[in-house]
Amino acid sequence: MEDCLFCKIARQEIKARLVYEDEEVVAFDDINPQAPVHSLVIPRKHIPSMNQLSEGEERLLGKVLTAARKLAEAKGIHQKGYRLVVNTNAEAGQTVFHLHVHLLGGRAMHWPPG
Ligand code: 5GP
Ligand code: ZN
Repeated sequence: MEDCLFCKIARQEIKARLVYEDEEVVAFDDINPQAPVHSLVIPRKHIPSMNQLSEGEERLLGKVLTAARKLAEAKGIHQKGYRLVVNTNAEAGQTVFHLHVHLLGGRAMHWPPG
């Protein structure tokens, strides 16, 4: 997608320091962090949301989740705990329509979320 913000970040056309990178997945810190650790883990491939995840992309989603776990380890929050969130469409508060997993940690989380 030419004009997708997160595609541009993945291609490094928009400046964002990548905190994780491999062939299929990149991660960067959220511009408006909601916790001491708040990163976004995305597939390089443009998938707008969970609703467009196709059969055959399960492995890619597994890679995104595995990257999130590695990043939690790298950030030193894996033992205390962390939360992975995928907002989907309006009622969940999705604002960027390129599938992303929020990695949140470094403080106690509340449940249920707001
Ligand atoms: P959503 O609400 O779609 O689940 O999450 C989108 C997230 O992207 C938000 O937490 C927002 O702060 C973050 N975000 C939006 N624009 C940018 C940007 O240009 N750079 C970075 N690093 N994060 C962004
Ligand atoms: Zn995109």
